[in-house]
Amino acid sequence: MTHEQSILVVGGAGYIGSHTVRQLVDSGQKVVVLDNLVYGHREAIVDESVVFVEGDLGDRAVLDRVFTQHHIGAVMHFAAFAYVGESVTEPAKYYQNNLAAPLVLLDAMRAHGVNIFIFSSTCATYGNPEYMPLDENHPQNPINPYGASKLMLERVLADYSHAYGLKYAALRYFNASGCSEDGKIGEDHNPETHLIPLVLEAAAGTREKIIIFGTDYPTPDGSCIRDYIHVHDLARAHILAIQQLADGAASFQCNLGTGIGHSVKELISEAERVTGKQIPVEIGERRAGDPPELVAAPAKAKELLGWEAEYKDLTKILETAWAWINGPRQGHF
Ligand code: UDP
Repeated sequence: MTHEQSILVVGGAGYIGSHTVRQLVDSGQKVVVLDNLVYGHREAIVDESVVFVEGDLGDRAVLDRVFTQHHIGAVMHFAAFAYVGESVTEPAKYYQNNLAAPLVLLDAMRAHGVNIFIFSSTCATYGNPEYMPLDENHPQNPINPYGASKLMLERVLADYSHAYGLKYAALRYFNASGCSEDGKIGEDHNPETHLIPLVLEAAAGTREKIIIFGTDYPTPDGSCIRDYIHVHDLARAHILAIQQLADGAASFQCNLGTGIGHSVKELISEAERVTGKQIPVEIGERRAGDPPELVAAPAKAKELLGWEAEYKDLTKILETAWAWINGPRQGHF
């Protein structure tokens, strides 16, 4: 892996992918993005040096063209579907896009002699927590097709690593959040289901209210606790992971989280402070499949990558997300 080679970022026009692309470019790396723009946004790729290819990761002809035309040294894969609820009602869509399609990508990589792969995995592979915080040895028993599809690909990667010498990192994200410091790119899902953008839309007045999904959980204030990890920190971990593998490190799996949990209620109060707005709140029913608490044990990422979250403060995360909502994203909703 040299700077002469490009990194292929599949799903580079999406939320976490686009932030990683910017950091790669800033570090002097050549980047090719492959994205089918189903959920991604062409305008999220702000650097002109990036080669953009519109296409699907399961399309072998497109992949052959990309691997032939560009000197690809490694692949980062961000192009999964990630709506947990939808994965329950439409599992075929999830197993097709999150499992079958990446198998085509992995085959193309083998055929073209590319053997470094960074995979966006998730804490949803752990399922219902048996203890807290979650370390990487926690049993993986996902409770929905989304988590299952991610775990299945982790298993595929382990087998390919063993049999074919693939070198991979499976990075298990906790709650991706925040937006770029300069406010140029950020979170723009359609439909939006994530807590922080919804809370901030309620603060901005573009959403009537925020519904808290349950206040009867066994947590100090009764609402669910999550580990919110800034997208800038996630992106940084990908770059460190690729360097490690290129320098000869063995394949690995690790959590990416801060190790700090915040409840839904706490987050809403902090958002009121950051925005200076009163946020209309309604207490609703629990959402199916929500564990009371999900917090990472982040030690392994520190040990392997020398990585730890820089944004440990929810205030900063909310500030960057608020700047984005009031900036470029404004026209989108
Ligand atoms: N949540 C909520 N109201 C909403 C959206 C989310 O109370 O409108 C809660 C949800 O139950 C969870 C937390 O906020 O406890 C984070 O949810 P999100 O969908 O952002 O991420 P997840 O943890 O499901 O990956």
